[in-house]
Amino acid sequence: RCYGRTPRGQHSALLKAGQLKKMESAILHRSLGKAYPTAVSGQGVYLITDNGQKILDGSSGAAVSSLGHGNTEVIEAVVTQARNLSFAHTSFFTSDPAEELARVIIDRSNGAFSKVTFLSSGSEAVETALKIARQHHIYNGEPERIHIIGRMHAYHGNTLGALAAGNNPPRRDAFSPLLSSAFHHVSRCFYDADGQGMSEGVYEDRLISEIESKIETLGPKTVAAMIVEPVGGATLGSVPPTRTYLPRLKDLCSRYGILLIFDEVMCGMGRVGSYHAWQQLGGVAPDLQTIGKGLGAGYQPLSAVLLAPKVVAAFEEGSKKSLKFTSGHTFQGHSMGCAGALAVHRILKRDQLISHVGEMGMLLESVLQKGLLSEINEYAVSMRGMGLFRTVDFGRMQVALGGPLAQEVADETFRRGAAVYTCSPAVDAILFAPPFIITAKEVAELSDIFVSALRAVTKRRKGSKL
Ligand code: PLP
Repeated sequence: RCYGRTPRGQHSALLKAGQLKKMESAILHRSLGKAYPTAVSGQGVYLITDNGQKILDGSSGAAVSSLGHGNTEVIEAVVTQARNLSFAHTSFFTSDPAEELARVIIDRSNGAFSKVTFLSSGSEAVETALKIARQHHIYNGEPERIHIIGRMHAYHGNTLGALAAGNNPPRRDAFSPLLSSAFHHVSRCFYDADGQGMSEGVYEDRLISEIESKIETLGPKTVAAMIVEPVGGATLGSVPPTRTYLPRLKDLCSRYGILLIFDEVMCGMGRVGSYHAWQQLGGVAPDLQTIGKGLGAGYQPLSAVLLAPKVVAAFEEGSKKSLKFTSGHTFQGHSMGCAGALAVHRILKRDQLISHVGEMGMLLESVLQKGLLSEINEYAVSMRGMGLFRTVDFGRMQVALGGPLAQEVADETFRRGAAVYTCSPAVDAILFAPPFIITAKEVAELSDIFVSALRAVTKRRKGSKL
């Protein structure tokens, strides 16, 4: 709405005059026909709309705004970079912010990665990781490795390759005729939902042998990569794996020469209380990793693929024979995005925000549990997650109250002043992923708003149905 040389102030003057508000939205929104409120500013954990409503950002959008809103240090870093240089194409140049940010990420990863490539979105990062895996095998003299194994109910993004790698039916179904047959899916790792009547060990054994059977069926020498979210996110709502699942997966993939990709676009960059999620989940690094969302914390669109030394070595060997990495996007490695993310990293470290995530995450779980005690007892409402990546699953409530609740509860929560993320349709659940800077008082406020919204929806449903 604010294009080109709009003089300062003219845009808000239009808003004040109510002219833009009266017009029908010119944006193709996700929900056609829904009237979206206009967000005009942000401060800390709050977003402010044009009619002055203050909304507590209880999910950081979709686990993006980890530093909250209006952080002047990050804004200054982006603006300073814009003044120096906004854009220089990566076919010709590198930039100081990109080089420095790559070094910071490598240094914080304890030798797990030796190179980084920056993109603009999580989907682009996933596409790029898949292409790197494919090219790695070509350079290694195994061009027959073409298959990619993903998992049911995973979400890896919306571009066609990422959509094929994931398996979120509502986002995927319309496009499935366009998706490559090189993608295959095995069971998700969700012990609480799928492991009933089994010990965790037996459940994990089953999953690992299912993956091994899939590899054997496809042909062990034809599988290029396996991709997993270490902590399931958008579709299932903060599902951590069983204790030794990720290390066993890495071992299995290594035995078959398959590259393992961890998609930490949502769960990485401190969200679950460690810099990388896998560091708390068995401690075994992948061959390739995607990050996004919290990397730029929403101040600029930025994502990345992190490459293990062995993958880099294959590329370096390949480049001796004049081979290249054949992929690229116009805005990759954008210096303003990298400058902003460098400031985000500086603040995360200086203010010890990742340990604060651990503390606030436990507090969020305990206040929600206290607030939802009667629902927990009556309907087996449950909680899961790590750090500030927590999910309330409505359990049997939808059966008792006439259908899924998540969207209605999220809408009611919004009306009462907090935004939370709806997971569906595989689960009826709400995801909480507030900014890392959230205080104990704001945690209590978020929980109170949510619990009151749930109670209002319950009352409504009981009134209309029972
Ligand atoms: N990977 C994961 C695990 C995600 O959660 C998402 C988005 O929610 C993506 C990839 C895609 O990221 P983007 O929406 O930035 O393309």
